[in-house]
Amino acid sequence: MKGRKVSAWVSAPLVVGAFGLLAWLERRRPLRRAVEPKLKREARNLAVAAVGALALRLAEQPVIEPLAALVGRRRWGLLKLWRLPAWLEVALAVILLDYTLYAWHVLTHKQPWLWRFHVVHHADLDLDASTAVRFHFAELLMSVPWRAAQVIVLGVAPLSLSVWQNFLFLSILFHHSNVRLPVGVERRLNALFVTPRMHGIHHSVVREETDSNWSSGLTVWDRLHGTLRLNVPQREIVVGVPAYRDPEEVTLPRILKLPFGEERPTWQLPGGGRPARAAAPAAEDRSLA
Ligand SMILES: [Zn+2]
Repeated sequence: MKGRKVSAWVSAPLVVGAFGLLAWLERRRPLRRAVEPKLKREARNLAVAAVGALALRLAEQPVIEPLAALVGRRRWGLLKLWRLPAWLEVALAVILLDYTLYAWHVLTHKQPWLWRFHVVHHADLDLDASTAVRFHFAELLMSVPWRAAQVIVLGVAPLSLSVWQNFLFLSILFHHSNVRLPVGVERRLNALFVTPRMHGIHHSVVREETDSNWSSGLTVWDRLHGTLRLNVPQREIVVGVPAYRDPEEVTLPRILKLPFGEERPTWQLPGGGRPARAAAPAAEDRSLA
């Protein structure tokens, strides 16, 4: 498996196809009511994503891909301690990368200098598949040393890295999406994978709700750490952060500049006070719990 990786001929259609399918389903079966016009938000989020993709192309790819190749050749890291069958090494790498990404996600919330950038992702007033790619380019740049440490310590070879990247991309598109799945289907899926209703709770303006559901792929990490929360119906969730509630404050130029300006207390409304929950849930709106 030296140097092998998932071809762009496979991953590009997969990701574009998944985004298209989710965007179509979001219009047919929306899970939450939208605050802003959807097309406008999608264009804005894809613009943020384009800047982020450029940053990754220039700063992550030239570092991480040769590093994974080196790790593979020199047999560095945890997974290279044994001669594992390729399928098992890839599966374990995906699981361990997913766990260490859980840790990174917690850090982006708990470290004020990282939260400054991660808040751009959370300041979206609605949540859909386009939010999945809305990360400030500086947050992506700051994640490069973390990614390098993951590759070296875990022993992530190119094939494992690219399988995980594809899994993660599909997973984040899916669980940020605003698609209403039948609740029974979602409950079964949620036993293993992060799903839209679960991740919706992580994007709530209520701090205790945002401080839960940090997993990005497998739900086992939130279960292990006692950070899983499923008992909030989606109609009760107001998406975003309390400090930025006005659509005029989350336009494209403003969110790109946001981390470099004066910082507001995130969990307070601009006028002071804490946000109230949305209206009581309708009878048909059941939580995953
Ligand atoms: Zn987050």
